[in-house]
Amino acid sequence: MFLFRDIIGQTETQNKLLQEYAEGRVPHALLISGPEGSGKMALALAYARLLLCTSPNENDGCEACASCHKINKLIHPDLHFAFPIIKKDSKKDSVCDDYIKLWREFLLNEPYPSFEQWTNKLKAGNSQPIIYTKESDEIIRKLNLKSSEGGYKVMIIWLPEKMKEEGENKILKVLEEPPMKTLFILVSDNPEGILQTIKSRTQLIAVPPIEERDIAQALEDKWALSDKDAKDVAHLSNGSMIKAISTITNNETNKQNFDLFVSLMRLAYMRNIKELKAWSEKVAGMGREKQKAFLEYSQRMVRENFMNNFQMKDLVYMNSFEKNFSVNFSPYINEYNAIGLMEELNKAQQHIIQNVNAKMVFFDFVLKIIVLLKH
Ligand SMILES: [Zn+2]
Repeated sequence: MFLFRDIIGQTETQNKLLQEYAEGRVPHALLISGPEGSGKMALALAYARLLLCTSPNENDGCEACASCHKINKLIHPDLHFAFPIIKKDSKKDSVCDDYIKLWREFLLNEPYPSFEQWTNKLKAGNSQPIIYTKESDEIIRKLNLKSSEGGYKVMIIWLPEKMKEEGENKILKVLEEPPMKTLFILVSDNPEGILQTIKSRTQLIAVPPIEERDIAQALEDKWALSDKDAKDVAHLSNGSMIKAISTITNNETNKQNFDLFVSLMRLAYMRNIKELKAWSEKVAGMGREKQKAFLEYSQRMVRENFMNNFQMKDLVYMNSFEKNFSVNFSPYINEYNAIGLMEELNKAQQHIIQNVNAKMVFFDFVLKIIVLLKH
């Protein structure tokens, strides 16, 4: 994660950044701008890793040094972030450090972040997240700290267009004459919303939408979509990874997970070991992201059917085909097995995250389901 080689497409931009780095021409301020979902943050983070890594190769951080380990968790003391937030307390302005845990969690899950997703994560409701003017003092303060490892300090400002003019003016000086070995990376969806005086102090990197074929390739490799589905989804995504991911999460994957869940429950109920073995082998071959998504989906189905079984209709969130299935299925999810089922799903998920052999995980898992469904 957060490596140049993980970035979807954008080869030209990557090469430009890497060439400058190789020639020792690291700028003091970059403005990476382009449409939402084009991978600007992924580029910023890969570049930050390269600068902070203690034994980088020519194209990427090493992934093995102490710095890289800290980058993996976004806890490197010389990597700073500023991003839009809401007030934690109505009486005073908040600073990004108040939200740093939530921010790391968000970015680790969404290397292609969108303002809308972040607004939801903040539970902002009707308030518009902004970067408060107070944050500019924080930015200056952090960049004047001594770098903890003696190397670079990197300040990533996500969506600088959400700063107020006063806040922008405050950082003009540090942007023009930053302390030694400092890199500002401004990551912007809308550079028109940034003061000209800020822009003129940065090197502009204009990132285009991702090529359709690069999105399709990523959907095949990382999300295990078929060649045809990958092309279809890529075609509709307008060069945005955010759009592509939301399409597969909302439609395709949901239907596929439903079918898998239904066949698992039927086979387990019939105790058809032979078919269950085939089922587990099929799931084992799907790719980790899809397996995690399926296990997550199954937990939701167990929970919803348990609720349905208790006639708590207003707490049940299912689409039409899920509801139809639930009419006959929900009696099988009851107080004797609901917790056990959730535990098994959870355990399988943990094992998949820990890279345990998927064939073993899923075959063990189906055997447990047979036992649990007997109740
Ligand atoms: Zn490293």
